[in-house]
Amino acid sequence: MTTGTPPKKSPAARNLEALPLWLAAAPLVLALAGLLWLAVRSPALRSRLESWLRPPPPVAAPVPLAPPAPAGPRLAIVIDDLGYQKEPIERLLRIQAPLTFAVMPGRPFSRQCAGLVVREGRELILHQPMEALAHASNGAGAYGEPGGGAPDPGLGAIYLKMSAETITATVEANLGAFPEIVGMNNHMGSAFTRNAAKMEAALRPLLSRRLYFLDSRTIGDSAGYAVAARLGLRAVRRDVFLDDTIDSARIAAQLRQAAALARSEGQALAIGHPHPETVGVLEREIPELLKSGIQLVYAGVLAVPAVRDAAPASSKSSRIGAASPQAAPLLRGRGSADKGQKSEVNSDRSLPTGP
Ligand SMILES: [Zn+2]
Repeated sequence: MTTGTPPKKSPAARNLEALPLWLAAAPLVLALAGLLWLAVRSPALRSRLESWLRPPPPVAAPVPLAPPAPAGPRLAIVIDDLGYQKEPIERLLRIQAPLTFAVMPGRPFSRQCAGLVVREGRELILHQPMEALAHASNGAGAYGEPGGGAPDPGLGAIYLKMSAETITATVEANLGAFPEIVGMNNHMGSAFTRNAAKMEAALRPLLSRRLYFLDSRTIGDSAGYAVAARLGLRAVRRDVFLDDTIDSARIAAQLRQAAALARSEGQALAIGHPHPETVGVLEREIPELLKSGIQLVYAGVLAVPAVRDAAPASSKSSRIGAASPQAAPLLRGRGSADKGQKSEVNSDRSLPTGP
């Protein structure tokens, strides 16, 4: 008996037998190739494919939940008049707290100061110079006229005599010089900020850039906040000037007053200048303020959509018992013992003006 083994097929014959299988599989292979090609061509499909292929992210260890920080009274401190000297800014930036810095256009160190502030991650706003009123201590000239006794707000300033177009263009140019800024406040402006129509021309450029306005309130009846409200801008008002009188004890007292206001009202905004005395007080007092439960915040945190029927700042002053704006036109704000326009003049006079 012979057990026959099937005759060995040649490789060519075996390939021939497998041919129908290959033919059947061909459309599937083509379809897969087509899908792959589509996936490579289409960004959406490619990213989906990549997400499938990507290993799952490692599961993070659960972080123990810290108890929510109590919402302490909020105080914003703004340092005006940046651009004359670097040294005080470097000192202020070493304070580990969210201070807001307001840079002036076209001053000798404006660009460098802005760069330092941004590099250190602090908030930067434009300090827009605006026409100031003449006043007794500044000579007896006519109001607002060059050389006529009004303090000079300097390069990049806007004046009441300018057309709305020129005012807007000037502010646009100043804003354009600092792409990093998130808001704007006024330098001087006791004459300019009273004029609602001119203020509107000044604030319009903030709209498209989504910048906020801080009304420095260098005059009791500034229209700045009300105009910002009408335009739908985020806005905030200055409560206390820290260094109208450049004296460490006085500056410390003003800072305590700002903190007291923050405690009673929930929030407050103080403006100071880079005088060595102010810097010294802030270096010394800010750690104490933080320990006492005051929460320092950027001015932009306090800038919310402004109240449309915002009363002029001066009526707020009279509401809390201060003199009426008629009786004391330069009185500024709730809880503030400010007496005049000293801030808008002092701050610039006492700083070197550079070349
Ligand atoms: Zn200023």
